[in-house]
Amino acid sequence: MSNWPAIFYSPHQDDEAIGFAGAIREHKEAGRPVYLVLLTNGINPGLLDILNGRVYCGWHQTYHNYQLTMEQLMWARKIEFVASAKRLGVDRTYIVEDGQGLDDGEPYYDYAGFLTRVTNIIQRFESEFSGASHKLVSGSLDAWPDGSRNPTHVACWEAAISLRNQITDFRFYRVYVYGHPLNDRNAGFILNLRSSWLDAKREALNQYKFFNPDAGRFALGYHSVPTLIDAAFEDGKEYLDFLP
Ligand SMILES: [Zn+2]
Repeated sequence: MSNWPAIFYSPHQDDEAIGFAGAIREHKEAGRPVYLVLLTNGINPGLLDILNGRVYCGWHQTYHNYQLTMEQLMWARKIEFVASAKRLGVDRTYIVEDGQGLDDGEPYYDYAGFLTRVTNIIQRFESEFSGASHKLVSGSLDAWPDGSRNPTHVACWEAAISLRNQITDFRFYRVYVYGHPLNDRNAGFILNLRSSWLDAKREALNQYKFFNPDAGRFALGYHSVPTLIDAAFEDGKEYLDFLP
């Protein structure tokens, strides 16, 4: 049983580092094969606006002018993801849709279609690695302090719910919980990270903060969600949920 893989599905580039990098190390140290799956393509108009100077960068206190295309931005985000996966020592890294990732804009205009795609992906992994543990994000349970939820994350949660009669080994991790004050971070179960897990998690997070434009590294994770990355870096815990 312990040779069955633990499959972690990251909705976006950086969710794995923020939400379950420590759990990846936990499973690795327990001797489990760990596979990491990136679900979406990284499309993000607001992020492109920051890198191209249409919006002020509060971090660097300047208007950037990198003249990136959306295609280049999406590749740069995937590079950060692969670098994070390498730091975590996962056994296999997947980017769905032949390396493109699902369109992260789709849940905003065709949520049902996107939900079907995510459900099919989980089913495909289950049929290839029957009996695997499937690790996703808590979606509906994981809101920003203002109560809003990310529809891509919600689709991960709802896909798992729809598969509960076929797959029983699900676990969920919160990401936006790190947007709350430390004393207001809750979940079904709180995992205290061993120091070796936290060290690896911090290395993974740092891949999203590594800024070296000449080398094609734009710290896109940190330009996108700096507060989550900083909070996850400082917090020694991860926040889990189970099937309701
Ligand atoms: Zn900047």
